[in-house]
Amino acid sequence: MTSTLIGPTTTGSVHPMTTGAMQPRDGQVRGGQPRGGQVKPISGTVHSWDLATAVDGPGTRFVVFTSGCPLRCLYCQNPETWKMRDGTVVTAEEIMAEAEPYRRFIQVAGGGFTVSGGEPLLQPVFTGELFRRAKEWGMHTALDTSGYLGMRASDELLADVDLVLLDVKSWFPGTYRRVTGGEVAPTLDFARRLADLGKAVWVRFVLVPGHTDAEDNVAGVADFAASLGNVERVDVLPFHKLGESKYQELGIKFPLAGTPTPTPALVARVREQFAERGLVV
Ligand code: SF4
Repeated sequence: MTSTLIGPTTTGSVHPMTTGAMQPRDGQVRGGQPRGGQVKPISGTVHSWDLATAVDGPGTRFVVFTSGCPLRCLYCQNPETWKMRDGTVVTAEEIMAEAEPYRRFIQVAGGGFTVSGGEPLLQPVFTGELFRRAKEWGMHTALDTSGYLGMRASDELLADVDLVLLDVKSWFPGTYRRVTGGEVAPTLDFARRLADLGKAVWVRFVLVPGHTDAEDNVAGVADFAASLGNVERVDVLPFHKLGESKYQELGIKFPLAGTPTPTPALVARVREQFAERGLVV
């Protein structure tokens, strides 16, 4: 999603989209998973992976950024993850081998393992396999998703997820469509399903002046989040333009080049709209 990694990281963590750190290594598919006596590697397409702190879930985390996303958010800071064909094919086993050196440190530090994107549920088998393996290690797991493809998340996959970082990008269907190019209903359905399962959720809301900031649009998201009963916190992520250069590199026009970042007063108003409904912001 997203990662959505919208909003400046205040933690000092290094994001792979800006550093190119720890890029997957082509041609290093190292193995597979024995299934009924056969080796059947489960592979997926990823952009990169990296360690991040307090961005994609609690603590220091090993974060896998999958490639491919069905949405086209106007404010997306990671357009290089949009197309699956631009990623690199790796096996789940290879990803876990990359995470292994950090395993003990992450667990001692109270962190975990996050699958982000792009959209991880575009590759539900691969994403599910990563979570299955991370849970085998006893790690805290987080799924960072728009929820747009929530129908693709099996109960089995969700059973291996401790926390869902759910982007609720707007309340009104027309606003959601203008901002993302998709429909809001699947995300709301997924949120209700997570509530029925009692799954912990952090809602994320990207605040874009002139696009998502209307008081009734925010109120809709806030009322909905407060009604679910499983939302542990809400992150209001102020729109920023740190990813603008990526659009130039890709030869794509950045749609929000002329859009201002939110003022502190606007951010405070929106945070208060969530807080006044009893949500932790
Ligand atoms: S287009 Fe939207 S959902 Fe997709 S990666 Fe970008 S911000 Fe996330």
